[in-house]
Amino acid sequence: MSSRPVRPVPLSQVEAFEHEADVLVVGFGCAGAAAAFEASSAGADVIVLERAGGPGGSSALSGGELYLGGGTRVQRACGFDDTPDEMYAYLEAALGPHADAEKLRLYCDESVEHFEWFRARGLTFEESMYDAPSWMPPTRDGLMWLGENAWPYNTIARPVPRGHRPAAENFGGWLIMERLASAAHEAGARTHADTLATALVVDESGRVVGVVASNYGKTVHYRARRGVVLTTGGFVDDEEMLADHAPVLLGHGKVSDGLDDGSGIRMAAALGAATRRMAQVEAALTALPAMVCRGMLVNARGQRFINEDVYPGMFSHAALHNPAPWWVIIDEEGYDAIPERDLWGVRPQHVAETLAELEEELGIPAGALETTVATYNRHAAEGDDPHFHKNPAWLRELKPPFAAVNPALGFDPGGSDAVPPGTGIAGFTLGGLHTTVDGAVLDVSGSPIAGLFAAGRASSGIHGEGYVSGTSLGDGTFFGRRAGRAAAGG
Ligand SMILES: Cc1cc2nc3c(=O)[nH]c(=O)nc-3n(C[C@H](O)[C@H](O)[C@H](O)COP(=O)(O)OP(=O)(O)OC[C@H]3O[C@@H](n4cnc5c(N)ncnc54)[C@H](O)[C@@H]3O)c2cc1C
Repeated sequence: MSSRPVRPVPLSQVEAFEHEADVLVVGFGCAGAAAAFEASSAGADVIVLERAGGPGGSSALSGGELYLGGGTRVQRACGFDDTPDEMYAYLEAALGPHADAEKLRLYCDESVEHFEWFRARGLTFEESMYDAPSWMPPTRDGLMWLGENAWPYNTIARPVPRGHRPAAENFGGWLIMERLASAAHEAGARTHADTLATALVVDESGRVVGVVASNYGKTVHYRARRGVVLTTGGFVDDEEMLADHAPVLLGHGKVSDGLDDGSGIRMAAALGAATRRMAQVEAALTALPAMVCRGMLVNARGQRFINEDVYPGMFSHAALHNPAPWWVIIDEEGYDAIPERDLWGVRPQHVAETLAELEEELGIPAGALETTVATYNRHAAEGDDPHFHKNPAWLRELKPPFAAVNPALGFDPGGSDAVPPGTGIAGFTLGGLHTTVDGAVLDVSGSPIAGLFAAGRASSGIHGEGYVSGTSLGDGTFFGRRAGRAAAGG
């Protein structure tokens, strides 16, 4: 456990509250914005405490991909029929094993309504599809595949794309946060920025009735007449928590705004709150989907470990559990076929006429890569990939000259979206407080802690042991809305 104290403060020790509201929301990312909007719209007086200078959080830095479906107007306009059941079947498999069935069912059943909620908050979605493998389309297209068309998922549910993107080129999280923060303010929520919540205030019955915070070094007390909603994000930025709960990410890069220190999780845990899925993480390998689909991804032993056309988060997750360094192997024909817009500044670092030379340069055991490529080529010639079931559309014999790309060197697509060199992997945490579908935080005995709610990455959402892009902003806002409404209801 992290050593910074987070002990709850008894109400009897609070001499006076400097501020008071019906609902206190702690943290102004996507989950906090959704909670603040709904609580305010339900008639509650709301204050949002944010440690940074204003709203945003990791949400504002994000790609802005939203995992939504079940038959949205964008899906229909692009010619796809979808149902909540198909969406559920895909997510149950892709976010599993151990996806949260109750949360997931609700999330899928009400996904079209949630999509319309974003539109009503002023977000627009182009009714067009980006039909190519990518971490992040460089266009404003409103729809993209997020692994639904790859094996084994295409055998589990009818493949339908559900990656919804607001109308922004490349990363669109800033646009989502701009619209949601405005909506929360217009609904009446007030923001107290530069205000770091440090502890919860608890009355003699155990009910959470306020928050102690620090504003420019001054201690400030906030009373919550109805409830406190913790939307403080995950814990990837706290090395001690990471070591305790999700050590798989230790030493790797962090997909965050630098403020995901798990403070909300710890404040609630200090009250006896239960946590769930704390070891589960999202991982992103800096390998280009457009490149790995046309070539192959191998581990330090020169072995393939997954069908390269899956959602890139899945090949990343698989890489995390395979020996590093990882390599993207491609031939000249494959490299030349990648559209410039999907290259993100990635150039091969190693080029060789033979695989034996490449093995020597990369430190791969002699003969290993030759065997992998020979097997791949033998099956590709027959349009087959019996080991990993890569889509035949991507299968082609790899021919010399060969090239290798090291994901650890990062991306440089130009502008501010560069990923600097590192281990090749960066990620964020998925586990957090155990909550009901209405955001009530449960204690270790399974009973709700009165007055306490949570959503977003401070809580455990729909995820089991898997992750798909768009499900963090998606479940953060979906369950943030429910937590805000529940807190406003007292
Ligand atoms: C580069 C990048 C790309 C991503 N792309 C996507 C994507 O396309 N789709 C997707 O679904 N997800 C994506 N993610 C992940 C996603 O952005 C986050 O998981 C999600 O935004 C978390 O939302 P949140 O509201 O829980 O937390 P945050 O957005 O991090 O908000 C938490 C807020 O709480 C504040 N806070 C923390 N502790 C305290 C405290 N003690 N007191 C007061 N304030 C506090 C923080 O300052 C922050 O503003 C991406 C993330 C990054 C960084």
